[in-house]
Amino acid sequence: MISLFGTAPSREVIRTLENAGFEAVFVGGAVRDYLLGKTATDIDIATSAEPEEVKAIFPQTVDLGSAHGTVLVLMNGEPIEVTTFRTEGTYTDHRRPDEVRFVKSLKEDLRRRDFTMNALAMTKDGELIDLFGGKVDMADRIIRAVGNAADRFNEDALRMFRAIRFTAVLGFNIEEQTFKAISDNAGQIRYVSVERLKAEMDKLFASANPMKAFHSIQNTGLNLHLPLFPEDNEKLNRTVPFESALEGWACFMIAGNFSASDVARAYKLSNVEKLFLSSVKEAYTNRLACQFTIDEYYQYDLAVLFTTEKLFRSMLDNVETISCTEIRQMKQSLPIQSIADLAVDGKKLMEWTSQKGGRWIGEWISEIEKAVLYRTCENNSNDIKEWFLYEFNREK
Ligand code: ATP
Ligand code: MG
Repeated sequence: MISLFGTAPSREVIRTLENAGFEAVFVGGAVRDYLLGKTATDIDIATSAEPEEVKAIFPQTVDLGSAHGTVLVLMNGEPIEVTTFRTEGTYTDHRRPDEVRFVKSLKEDLRRRDFTMNALAMTKDGELIDLFGGKVDMADRIIRAVGNAADRFNEDALRMFRAIRFTAVLGFNIEEQTFKAISDNAGQIRYVSVERLKAEMDKLFASANPMKAFHSIQNTGLNLHLPLFPEDNEKLNRTVPFESALEGWACFMIAGNFSASDVARAYKLSNVEKLFLSSVKEAYTNRLACQFTIDEYYQYDLAVLFTTEKLFRSMLDNVETISCTEIRQMKQSLPIQSIADLAVDGKKLMEWTSQKGGRWIGEWISEIEKAVLYRTCENNSNDIKEWFLYEFNREK
């Protein structure tokens, strides 16, 4: 059997729209990725039906912003995004169209898309609709703006960054005029919201070849207008590729000699991401002086330790490093992995001392934690009791 594009429920959505007299096709990145032999992640369908019509046709829908034309259709439990063919009106702020206008023609919809490879559509039967030469450009591994590149970047400056991000993800090159338009309009990137930039940076860091993008960011001058960017590409070069976007951010921070809060503020990182960066910064600073200590093996999770050691290994020449296996073993061999592993709790301390609860409990639990971690006493109730009562009575 020939494998068709999309999932059975997504093809069913198209069939249903067609039976109701509308046009409907697969569009966007999923079609591109399919042609590249990659499994599509988010499948998008574009249709001539307006949001209200889509909602009327399918029994189960969620409105994802019908002003912009997107309705989520639940088909056999699978969520599928269906967006009405649309064009975008004028862009006065270089980032969001002032208005979205629904149109009846697929061509109008594809024309507003950023690159020829992203302006492809496919019918439910797997027939490619290629109105802007996307297929040839993909065969040539070229990223080319649809229409006049400078105009398209003036409408939405994020497209410049997307072009560069795609070079890293796909290994393609940016077509000459498109590249020139990025260099000419680089300053406009400052109009783009940090949230959108951050999402693109995440994809760039997680890509197969981030260096390709870092070079283009510098060669086009985009780096001068981004919220924060390391001056020294060479340092970044030593750390690629990254295990994850988060590791990318950590290497970005160290390569740029930034603090965790600089990076977190500039790119609006989440609290979890910020904590990871500040842990790596702290661990890395200590690592420059000596091996990881027991405290560090205990305090930091494996991802922090791995990234820190990777940075240490790549940033410095001729240093003695430890492997991930060794790091894992060192961490596993600690008597406890967290305070939850302690053989006693606050209730036990109250029982042993016949004292009421209070701040003293937390303080003593923390002392016990240290004693167990440093193997001053074994992690069992009897040994801890003996050690604790002795120390407790001594301090009274
Ligand atoms: P990814 O694989 O990272 O998801 P993508 O191309 O699918 O890449 P999405 O943000 O999912 O990116 O967008 C889906 C489609 O919407 C794109 O393929 C493109 O056709 C269109 N699109 C997205 N962002 C823009 C933009 N800023 N300007 C014009 N068209 C865009
Ligand atoms: Mg996508």
